[in-house]
Amino acid sequence: MHLYCYQQQHVASAATLIAPLKYLPAPHLISDLMTMAGFYRENDQLCVDGLRLDAIADQFGTPLYVYSAAAITANYHAMTAVFSGKNRRIHYAMKANSNLAVLRLMQNLGAGVDIVSMGEFARAIAAGFAPEQMVFSGVGKTPDELRAAISAKIGQINAESQAEIDTIIALAKASGEQPAVALRINPDIQAGGHAKISTGSSDTKFGIPGHLARDIYIHMAESGVIRPAGLAVHIGSQIMDCTGFIAAWQYMRQCADDLVNDGYSVPCLDLGGGIGVDYMTGQTADLLAFGDAVNQVFGQSDYHLAIEPGRSMVAEAGCLITQVINVKTNEDKRFVVVDGAMNDLIRPTLYEAHHRIEPLAVHPSHDLPADIVGPVCETGDYLGLGRDLPALAANDLLAVMSAGAYGAVMRSNYNTRPMAAEVMVIDGTAHRISKPQQVSDLLAMDIIPASLDTI
Ligand SMILES: *Cc1c(COP(=O)(O)O)cnc(C)c1O
Repeated sequence: MHLYCYQQQHVASAATLIAPLKYLPAPHLISDLMTMAGFYRENDQLCVDGLRLDAIADQFGTPLYVYSAAAITANYHAMTAVFSGKNRRIHYAMKANSNLAVLRLMQNLGAGVDIVSMGEFARAIAAGFAPEQMVFSGVGKTPDELRAAISAKIGQINAESQAEIDTIIALAKASGEQPAVALRINPDIQAGGHAKISTGSSDTKFGIPGHLARDIYIHMAESGVIRPAGLAVHIGSQIMDCTGFIAAWQYMRQCADDLVNDGYSVPCLDLGGGIGVDYMTGQTADLLAFGDAVNQVFGQSDYHLAIEPGRSMVAEAGCLITQVINVKTNEDKRFVVVDGAMNDLIRPTLYEAHHRIEPLAVHPSHDLPADIVGPVCETGDYLGLGRDLPALAANDLLAVMSAGAYGAVMRSNYNTRPMAAEVMVIDGTAHRISKPQQVSDLLAMDIIPASLDTI
């Protein structure tokens, strides 16, 4: 299949085609950047990898997440084009989208996986990853989780405190295992697209303050039961330029060089994730610049390097399709009430995130502003505010774009709404990748104690 679309512009030379984007362009508007995958418009219809999205919505119902396997594949390949080699590993940060089908695809592509809970461990195993391919991150791993991670021989545990190191040492002694542990350091760098996804400054809960890292690393190395695996940073998410990365990596490299000079083994440096994607402008973080930044900081060194991209692997490879329930006007304001809501995609509510919203069918009509809101009983329940959209009526379909990361994984059943199902387009066919939930499934979770009826 050879589709032209702007989904995969990372490796293309002139990566700046269309900014700001109104609607996705027709394929012929895009020059021969490279083989494209993902979403595009053809004959005024929004399509994905050769299929019309309205046909997919008809078949599977709405609200519905639709992912393009080809676009995820292209994203992964774009990353390996700038970050690959004998001593370089990519661990997909699966919290961005942990559907088993997405994980299986990443596994088949050759990625490892970054997990943040033993629930994610179970998913990764179910998708076919081996424990050695996993990095276990997170600020609050419980002793039970650490015990399980150690006995499963997870590839690397990224520890975030002295207390966690002490727990790991005790568990390792008890088990006779020698876990590989890296220290996540907090380089005190501000970066990231929103305060709630910025993790690299000293006033966040993440990592070990730089000035303590050395002593804790030495403590760990001299414990005799931990294999010191190196250092890690992760400064935040939705980062669009490399300045923050470079500062954090230089900081980590200095810590590592000091330890190495003192005779300690620092085999691997984990550079984190956080690469930004296109939500609004038609531009994605420049992967070529990312690759250059890696080489600038680490070009002349023997460290093994690892990265943990989540969002940049899947965000633009997915959308949420939603159907208009009705259109109403309060005072001068137009509200388009749709069947997708904050429980399906919470990013607009939680992070004031902007997702482009596209009508599936574009009619020649005069665009007017509208708030696109869901049925949930909260004023914060919206998918987009003040968007210029054509006249819309009940049953029209809209796509909320770039919803493949931190979308479905944050779904909830608020207002007793069954979760949106997920579909993946693989080689021109749409496959269901999560079962539709029934209201009866939700009711079955609850228990009414019999003693309530004797009150
Ligand atoms: C969330 C997270 C990532 C992935 O971040 P993205 O912005 O999705 O690339 C990587 N590493 C750690 C430790 C994380 O918590």
